[in-house]
Amino acid sequence: MTKTSAVELVVVPCLSDNYAFLVHNAATNQTALVDAPEAAPIQAALDARGWTLDDILITHHHNDHIDGVAALRGTARVIGAKADAHRLPKLDLEVAEGDEITICGQTTTVLDVSGHTVGHIAYHMPDAALVFTADSLMALGCGRLFEGTPAQMWDSMQKLRALPDDTLVCSGHEYTETNARFAASLDPDNPDLISRNKRIETARAAGTPTVPSTLTEEKRTNPFLRADVPEFKAVLGMEDASAVDVFAYIRAQKDKF
Ligand code: ZN
Ligand code: FE
Repeated sequence: MTKTSAVELVVVPCLSDNYAFLVHNAATNQTALVDAPEAAPIQAALDARGWTLDDILITHHHNDHIDGVAALRGTARVIGAKADAHRLPKLDLEVAEGDEITICGQTTTVLDVSGHTVGHIAYHMPDAALVFTADSLMALGCGRLFEGTPAQMWDSMQKLRALPDDTLVCSGHEYTETNARFAASLDPDNPDLISRNKRIETARAAGTPTVPSTLTEEKRTNPFLRADVPEFKAVLGMEDASAVDVFAYIRAQKDKF
């Protein structure tokens, strides 16, 4: 449980390696859920706190992010990408890049972060310093490109990287240990990565989630955010390649890892 300015964040582990997130504003007694991999653990987290859902925010259409919506929605407002309305649970509010909505009293901006899927969105709460990225930017990684191109995902990475450094990145899966091994294979001498990977090892040995992470640490260590960083391109021997080509190379290497 993390306290932010005006809202509380609860990380809810679901299925084998998914995360859902509850955002709660105690002053207004409003609660929102980001993604619904399955209903039971989310309902239990709500019941334990006496909270009921006002809003359900969906990031993308994959089953491991929407399967719990039907059982949880009740009277909650279900929000998702207009572009994906045909393959999401019935939406009460359809949103797109640049839209501003109010969730738990927090101004929330919608970012199109296509790449993993086309139509994947992220939700940014600037005053709470939270961004919900699901399978776009992940802790030390990014989602596999099932629908989008490397150029689309790199564009999404740049959008997310431009958010304030202290933003907490609330991503959709506990894939961090594998991501850490992959990142270390590319960039073994990066001191920030070496120390982060030690913390990840300790956290996972204790069964502690490595999500959320801070954007600062992602910018220093996540290879998918560093495709245009000259020192990193040099480590890869790709000084003269474009950022998109470097990103595509890293993503392809990860797919084989
Ligand atoms: Zn997905
Ligand atoms: Fe997923």
